[in-house]
Amino acid sequence: MRDSDWTRILGWPGYRVYQLEIDEQAKTLKLWVRRKSGNRKLVCSGCGRRLEQIHNIYEREVRDLACFEFRTTVVIELYRVRCPDCGIKVERVEQLPTKAPFSKRFEDELGQACESASARQVARRFRLAGTTVRAIDLRYLQRWKAKRRQPALRQIGVDEIYLGKKQRFFTVVSNLETGEPLWFGSERNKETLDEFFRGQLSARQRRRITAACVDMWEPFRQSLQQWVPNCRIVYDKFHIMQHANLAVDEVRRAEFFRKGGPARGVVKGKRWLLLTRWVNLTTANRRMLNTLFAMNRKLMKAYLLKESLDRLWTFLYEGAMLRYLERWLDQLRWQRLPSFEKLGWLLIDHLDGILNYCRTKVPIGVVEAVNGNIKMLLRRGRGYKNVAYLLLKAQRMAATKTEFVVFRKAA
Ligand SMILES: [Zn+2]
Repeated sequence: MRDSDWTRILGWPGYRVYQLEIDEQAKTLKLWVRRKSGNRKLVCSGCGRRLEQIHNIYEREVRDLACFEFRTTVVIELYRVRCPDCGIKVERVEQLPTKAPFSKRFEDELGQACESASARQVARRFRLAGTTVRAIDLRYLQRWKAKRRQPALRQIGVDEIYLGKKQRFFTVVSNLETGEPLWFGSERNKETLDEFFRGQLSARQRRRITAACVDMWEPFRQSLQQWVPNCRIVYDKFHIMQHANLAVDEVRRAEFFRKGGPARGVVKGKRWLLLTRWVNLTTANRRMLNTLFAMNRKLMKAYLLKESLDRLWTFLYEGAMLRYLERWLDQLRWQRLPSFEKLGWLLIDHLDGILNYCRTKVPIGVVEAVNGNIKMLLRRGRGYKNVAYLLLKAQRMAATKTEFVVFRKAA
């Protein structure tokens, strides 16, 4: 095979292969490339200006896409240029976006692989260190982010994610219309959300926000009041049902654990059962739950109350929603379920924001989906030390899903 054939196989625009080395034992291929004679365009990597003056020539070796079974590296001849503004600089080359020893298309391939597998799995497949793969993935995502246009922000979701006893909470702000997380902040104070409004949005951008889906959490309400006073606060189903689930769990613990005895064993590990909606349970699970209910009527009542609260969001008219909620609150009387009484008061205190669901059209399930995606990434990556990296991952995940939906619609 001639060098010109290798040039065509490699396919680096403007470069030709002039030497190569094949190691059949180690299964490696090494190609030496330099500019084609017609390729005279030199660009300063500092300022992007076109230049003629060459300072000197040097070589760099980068890993490129594999060629069949051969792990491939390319040794490229590069120029240092003399720029009137930047002094002596390296020329800019499309295939070499960073100083790291990888070609752009190799980094893209790894970044794409990291979208559907953990960094650890990708590292094993490409025989690289996990830290190297994560660094490549981060650069891949940064390049993607730099190129894309930021969608307008009209409706925001605010959620908090619990990371455990040490790191505790962080706050997630998302764009409800695109389903994409926008910003992460530590803790969940008023100051946390203040920081988002102050640092991330201009006054004009803040004025454009018309609705916010948040938890019934006073510090967030205060921050929204201060920064986006005209925005409608919607206490969404996802957060309210989280409170209802907590109330059920409190009943479970009060009824079984504090009493001890043989009943304790029956209810142990059944928390998830009680938190799952009836429609999502298998026959065997329903039977298990019924056994539990036969032993304790209070727990059954709590479960049914949670199930019926879920239907609140089937109403599209404010009046109907309010009537349903009033009937639900009436049922709480005489039940002697303190955790549900507490929930009842919480709902009454936040009534206006609950009814806002009927007054403002906000997409449901988005806050929950964003929350679920981040938790999935955290599980798969076994934690992220770099929060900016986690945010980019979650954004890319949301964006690729949208693209997928659009593609399917077009097909
Ligand atoms: Zn320059």
